[in-house]
This record gives sequence, structure tokens and C-alpha cells, in this order.
Amino acid sequence: MTRPLIVAIDGPAGAGKSTVSKILARRLDFTLVDTGAIYRCVALEARRQGIALDDDARLEGLLGKLTVSFHVEGEINRVFIEGEDVSEAIRTPEISLAASSVSSRPVVRNHLLEVQRRLALSATHGAILEGRDIGTVVFPDADVKVFLFANPEIRAHRRFEELFQKGTEKPIDQVLDEQNRRDKEDSQREVAPLKPAADAVQIDSTELPLSEVVQQIEDLVQSRRRA
Ligand code: C5P
Repeated sequence: MTRPLIVAIDGPAGAGKSTVSKILARRLDFTLVDTGAIYRCVALEARRQGIALDDDARLEGLLGKLTVSFHVEGEINRVFIEGEDVSEAIRTPEISLAASSVSSRPVVRNHLLEVQRRLALSATHGAILEGRDIGTVVFPDADVKVFLFANPEIRAHRRFEELFQKGTEKPIDQVLDEQNRRDKEDSQREVAPLKPAADAVQIDSTELPLSEVVQQIEDLVQSRRRA
């Protein structure tokens, strides 16, 4: 049985993964799997249920019952827990940091490994997975692997703008601080740390318009399809 074409897009927060993945998924008619959103849902539920972010036994109980689904609505990839739309609730700075904490727990990563693979393999044409460890752990045999990065200041600036558009004003220094904490936690954890796969194509989006990044990745997908 042939499996759908798998595109892995990894990299730190603010490198442009979400925007690029959304545009590409629409252009190629691929299923989009925002793996960070799944970790965020675990963090949100843990917070709501008063579960400590390092309480593996209770996190495991939570994971057994958690059902996350996605629904693309125009420009927005909406995220649901059971039937509840949590698209906004999972994007707060507090949940960003909590997601980084729960994602360092092996019990959480192991459980979500299967969830992510299932979502991607059920795609009709192909799947784009954006995250931190897609090319290294979730799909080491992905057809296209990209590691998208940018310098920390420009990433923090993009995040600042995004928060501003949503009506939240936060000093840029604080945005940069939180981002550095997350980068550090994500890159230094023992399980599946953030790092480029040896065979990933590395793209620096610091000075590149996102339209150009999209084009580069689309070219990689098309040449893979021809091969
Ligand atoms: O991509 P996003 O910022 O939404 O991810 C939230 C957090 O989830 C990240 O900071 C990271 O700790 C974790 N994550 C992960 N592995 C992935 C995707 C996200 O550890 N594949």
C-alpha cells in the first residue's frame, strides 16, 4: 500500500512554520498537522484539570481521554478538544511555556507519536507536519524534510506583531525572553530535542519573504514527486 507523501517542517518558534505550512497545504491540497497545537492541547487540559506538568501518571490518564481534531476555516486552522474550539485558548503565552514543559515528558511524547503518525497517514494526497522533531523522530523517512530558522530577534519581532494584531501589547524584551526560554527547553531536553535532521534542507527565513520560503519548499515537493 502506498503511503501519502510526507513533508516535515521543523524549526524554532517564530521561524514562519505555521504560515508557510498553511499556504503550502492549501496550494498542494495536503492535510496539515500542526503538531505544536497538539502539545498545546495537552498543556491546556493539564492546567484546566489542575495536573502538575511533571505528573506523568496523571498526564498519562489525561492523554488516554484526549481527542484533538483540526478544521481548516479559510485562513485559520481551528483546533478542537472534543467539540470545543480551543484555537485561541491554546495560544496564550502561559500555554506556550506549559506546552514546552509537558513536551519534555517521555510519556507525553510517546503517546503523541502515534497520534501524529495516524493523522498524517490518513491523509488523501499528502501531509505537511510542522513541529520540532518530525524529520528526526516522527517521520525519519519523510519524503521532504525542511528545517526552517531565523535569528532570534526577528522571530521575537514577528511574535510581537502577531500578539499586537490580537490586541495584546507585550514589551519586545519580554517576548524575546520567553522565546529564549522555550528555545532552550526545546533544544536541551533529553527526548527528541529540537535539531535539524542530518538530511534536512535548512532554510534561513531571516531575510527571506515567506512567499519565497513557500516556493522553495513547493519546488522540493514537486521534484520529489517527479523522482
Ligand atoms: O509550534 P508551537 O510553538 O505551537 O509548539 C508549542 C510547543 O510544543 C513547543 O515549544 C515545543 O515545546 C512543543 N513541540 C514539540 N514537538 C513538536 C511540536 C511542538 O516538542 N513536534
